[in-house]
Amino acid sequence: MEAAAFLSDKAAAISVVEKHEFPFQKTLGPQVGGAVLKMLQSKGVKFYMKKELHELKGKDGKVSHSLAAFVLTPFLAGVTPNSAFLKGTSIAKDNSGAILVDLRMQTNIPNVFAGGDVVSFPVALLNGDHSSIHHQQVAEAHGSIAAFNMLKKQKELHTVPFFWTTMLGRSIHYAGRMGQRERGMKGHNSLHPSAFYSRDGFVTAAASLNCDPTVSLIAEVLYLGKKISKEEAE
Ligand SMILES: Cc1cc2nc3c(=O)[nH]c(=O)nc-3n(C[C@H](O)[C@H](O)[C@H](O)COP(=O)(O)OP(=O)(O)OC[C@H]3O[C@@H](n4cnc5c(N)ncnc54)[C@H](O)[C@@H]3O)c2cc1C
Repeated sequence: MEAAAFLSDKAAAISVVEKHEFPFQKTLGPQVGGAVLKMLQSKGVKFYMKKELHELKGKDGKVSHSLAAFVLTPFLAGVTPNSAFLKGTSIAKDNSGAILVDLRMQTNIPNVFAGGDVVSFPVALLNGDHSSIHHQQVAEAHGSIAAFNMLKKQKELHTVPFFWTTMLGRSIHYAGRMGQRERGMKGHNSLHPSAFYSRDGFVTAAASLNCDPTVSLIAEVLYLGKKISKEEAE
């Protein structure tokens, strides 16, 4: 999405092919995705939603426009855990191929650690349910915890997933985690100024568009182990 936003006033035409209904849907949820979709559409970006790319056909079978390939590459990255190299080992993975780790980032094999996009780990905000979270901050937290435990300094992961980016001069912040059971509470396809996700009456994630530092403050509250009720958020 960042590439599409950056190129929106430079390229002659930009098309985004996305297999879900909204961009960022699995990572950030439909509210954030819907807001991004509208922002980019207003800049002329064309979206082909719920579609999968199978082939690029150029003139006479050749894609001559180098930019097309450039834009596609990052979109394909990070979608599927790159764990094929573990084939033949007994390291446990989930159905998507993500490596299963505990809160010390240890796999089912003692002294074998993993972290980042390739793992599925217990998420405190989801009552310990496993989830794969593809954020830079999460990968850094995993790396730090794995290193401590590799050095036998027992330490468990304690973090609130945090994602940030900027698009078309506006900041998008997202803290927490929206799992399968979470529901959006405010607005639909908009982030003006913030959206919340809740489970069993309590906030598990919040997102905002150009409304800082709201989400940072919410992350801080969640980090301290405090609960924010649905009513308080509303
Ligand atoms: C286009 C794009 C935009 C993003 N924007 C944001 C953002 O705005 N904010 C945010 O928080 N997050 C963002 N992310 C997500 C963030 O980049 C990732 O969550 C983070 O980089 C994960 O870190 P990692 O170390 O797990 O994986 P990576 O950063 O992907 O690093 C994995 C490394 O391992 C290498 N590797 C893979 N397989 C092998 C192998 N078999 N042998 C040796 N090396 C191997 C890869 O080449 C790569 O260098 C974005 C991701 C993408 C793709």
